[in-house]
Amino acid sequence: MDVPRFEEYPERSLHLTAVQQFQRAADLVDLPGHYRAMLSQPMNEIIVNFPVRMDDGSWEIFRGYRIQHNNLLGPFKGGIRFHQDVDLDEVKALAQWMTFKCSLVGLPFGGAKGGVTITPDLYSDDELQRVVRRFTHSLGTNIGVDHDIPAPDVGTNSRTMDWLMDTYANVSGPGGVQAVKGVVTGKSLSTGGSAGREAATGQGVLYALRHWCGEADERLEGLTIGVQGFGNVGSHFARLAAREGCSIRIVGDHTATVVNDEGLDVEALVSWVAEHGGVDGFPSADQVSTEELFAHELDVFVPAALENQLTEDRARALRSRLVIEAANGPTTLEAERLLADRGVEIIPDILANAGGVVVSYFEWLQNKMSASWSAFEVDEKLRTILWAAHDREVETRRRHGCSRREAAYVVALERLAEVYDRRGIFP
Ligand code: NAD
Repeated sequence: MDVPRFEEYPERSLHLTAVQQFQRAADLVDLPGHYRAMLSQPMNEIIVNFPVRMDDGSWEIFRGYRIQHNNLLGPFKGGIRFHQDVDLDEVKALAQWMTFKCSLVGLPFGGAKGGVTITPDLYSDDELQRVVRRFTHSLGTNIGVDHDIPAPDVGTNSRTMDWLMDTYANVSGPGGVQAVKGVVTGKSLSTGGSAGREAATGQGVLYALRHWCGEADERLEGLTIGVQGFGNVGSHFARLAAREGCSIRIVGDHTATVVNDEGLDVEALVSWVAEHGGVDGFPSADQVSTEELFAHELDVFVPAALENQLTEDRARALRSRLVIEAANGPTTLEAERLLADRGVEIIPDILANAGGVVVSYFEWLQNKMSASWSAFEVDEKLRTILWAAHDREVETRRRHGCSRREAAYVVALERLAEVYDRRGIFP
């Protein structure tokens, strides 16, 4: 597909995939060429290299990224990933998806993403803390409460965000911690986090499934589900879905894939993973190959790990009726075409996993107001926002006769284009 080219994309570029994904939606709304071009690359690309002392006294140099894709709708917003495969191309794609996600669900945020190329499991807690603090320091004033607000992603969590906020508070001079708490979301509750943030992305994935059930006239209870990735997103989704009577049959992570066709005991699996670092060895389940995760007969398959997991071969083998993209970018373009031909539906990432950034927005608001909302209040507001976004997607899909992903992008692009039209482009 022809896309605006400003750069040589690397081979198998995730950023190029992200750009290709919105081209048909851009055609559907007749998006002017210069808007299309502006949204095809980030506004700012920040790369930092920084030294960190290891526990044994040696030093390592790390590379970190913060890609600020677009801030038309509000401050840049997006997670920070700690993973060995983090590179510029990946972070650019992830940042772009954040712009569309925030626009789609109607948040006053733009899109960004960050990351450090690191294998977190190889480092002690003290070393990781120094990496986070030094990375935060290196980013300096490139982040800020009303400028760019990070959050957790793969390999990071509320502890990481607490360290980030503390470092930022310590280097930003007098003014008090309250003024800067909102520089990052996904913090622990005691440090200024929001009730419901930790489970928010998984909760949003469950709302996506519920909404699909309503449209497809299906019962949630009894649906059979497979989940790839059992970290923050996958485990919370599995837990919540099991409580609603769904049968979680198969779960895979970086250590193994486990299956039980009577339904896995999800609470026991959560405890097992907390203790052993992965699903490998989980009793009362059979261990199977990674490929079985994709080929197992299920109603719903939920990728909640990394990008590019659902490839053409796996799409061919897939025996589920519905894919809910809890992860960002889990389906390759070729796999998506094949699934469409086979009549397998896909609820796209920018809609399915938006629960996290919605509750991040609530956290940011609470920090600004020095307020603290109850879990009930947070969940009510989350449900209202996500439900409305799903309704808009359905209405748009029917209007254009397009796919779910295209409809989600149409909604996002229409909002962005309207604001560009009204504000004009400086100078
Ligand atoms: P996490 O670090 O908590 O968990 C990642 C999970 O993926 C782990 O269970 C890990 O074992 C598994 N995994 C890693 N490599 C794998 C492989 N090769 N095969 C199978 N499993 C593998 O990360 P997370 O926060 O749960 O994020 C998961 C996905 O959801 C990512 O795509 C992320 O961008 C997306 N996401 C996260 C949030 C959030 O709030 N955390 C919000 C929106 C989207």
